[in-house]
Amino acid sequence: MERIVIINFGAQYNQLIARRIREAGVYSELLPPDAPIERVKGEGLSGIILSGGPDSCYLPGSRTCSDELFSLGVPVLGICYGMQLMCQKFGAKVGPAPVREYGKTFVRFKPNVLFKDMPDSICWMSHNDAVSEVPAGFELIAETDDCPVGAVCCGEKGLYAVQFHPEVRHTEYCAQFFHNFVYEICRCKGGWSIENLAGELIEEIRKKVGSSKVVAGLSGGVDSSVAATLVHRAIGDQLTCIFVDHGLLRLGEAEEVMDYYRNEIGLNVIEVDAKERFLSKLAGVVEPERKRKIIGEEFIRVFEDEAKKVGADYLLQGTIYPDVIESGTGGAQVIKSHHNVGGLPEDIAFKGLIEPLRILFKDEVRLLGESLGMPAPLVWRQPFPGPGLAIRVMGDITEEKLDILRKSDFILRDEIKKAGLERAIWQYFTVFTGVRSVGVMGDCRTYDTAIAVRAVTSTDAMTVEFAEIPYDILRRISNRIIAETPGVNRVVFDITDKPPGTIEWE
Ligand code: GLN
Repeated sequence: MERIVIINFGAQYNQLIARRIREAGVYSELLPPDAPIERVKGEGLSGIILSGGPDSCYLPGSRTCSDELFSLGVPVLGICYGMQLMCQKFGAKVGPAPVREYGKTFVRFKPNVLFKDMPDSICWMSHNDAVSEVPAGFELIAETDDCPVGAVCCGEKGLYAVQFHPEVRHTEYCAQFFHNFVYEICRCKGGWSIENLAGELIEEIRKKVGSSKVVAGLSGGVDSSVAATLVHRAIGDQLTCIFVDHGLLRLGEAEEVMDYYRNEIGLNVIEVDAKERFLSKLAGVVEPERKRKIIGEEFIRVFEDEAKKVGADYLLQGTIYPDVIESGTGGAQVIKSHHNVGGLPEDIAFKGLIEPLRILFKDEVRLLGESLGMPAPLVWRQPFPGPGLAIRVMGDITEEKLDILRKSDFILRDEIKKAGLERAIWQYFTVFTGVRSVGVMGDCRTYDTAIAVRAVTSTDAMTVEFAEIPYDILRRISNRIIAETPGVNRVVFDITDKPPGTIEWE
């Protein structure tokens, strides 16, 4: 299998590089800068990309890579920090840029195979540092008004480097750029796809698991459902699924997903009622990170108990790529610890973890689910966080607050469905804000809770925009929530994008 390796120097959006390459039809993976060279060299290596990153390569302690990468006989492309590092290694000076560039910037290209079919155009820039001279043996192949060394190459050694970020959509010819790198420079044949990946993942799972038993935690969300379906396809009844009702689920959720699991996919599922266990552990807990940690740990404990009963060696988790990145693995900063990554207890009593979706983005997980023939409503379900409603109740969690949250959330879902917006909106839910305000209902003064409506559009959860729901629908949602949910007298709409916000409030 053809493979393009990205050496990850720690930029938040580096995984987009992998996506662009996969979209071009070649498998791509991110490896840390200190990954053993053997791991990079492995089967099918067709090209290497040195990613962007927050360091300055001329300062002590900055991330670096092995010089051997440049002599493996495959092309190497440096992007931003990767360009600076490559140029420094080949003798050029790198330092603080006289003029820093951020955002959309007009770039002029010289004729070069890397820029085939790319006219001079807008590219995305984000750098404080710059390469101030073309390294010996290299030629200059692009420039901007403020960045004279905008891209360089040494064709005979197969080395290419660009200061701009081709991986973001703001770069006008982003798809063409990666097409050129992958097919014109790395000479790949292509043909990688999610369908083919399914077969490989299934093979891998079979090899790893052998005749052992696996326990899977199902949350009702897309990730754990696709992961379980995949493993079920690989090892059949060696897989036992556990659906934990932690008392933090949406209205009607347990019944609905159990029906899919048992009757449509044919999974072997044990339903565990752990409401008491979770809610008592969470009583009085206010701090969001503590809520996540407690729930993550409790999940694992429940699994352990059940796994002991079935005698399972492996635990399956539906971890996906954004979880891995946001939890701080791979050098990016910790934004939130995800219950299936950061919250993992160290004394876990399993032989190992199986995380077949670890390298996939959300929309790739959905494509995988479809290619496995899963029911569409399950594959297209909106994402639901492992900690469930716990992180949608601001402050401490009580049955009463959960009840208000569930009712309001059910109304929101119902109205979104009636408006036919289910697929257009990535995620939509209500938040128990914990704020009380004064209102008037039936001529009487009220002093009740404010519910927030959160609705966002996205393709990968890495960046989101608040969904522009038409006002008449918002008004209907607001009216119904207040009329049908005792204890609520005000509804507000969250108009924050990510960044700077996150999707969930906690
Ligand atoms: N830290 C380097 C700079 O500021 C590289 C930035 C990047 O890779 N986005 O120039």
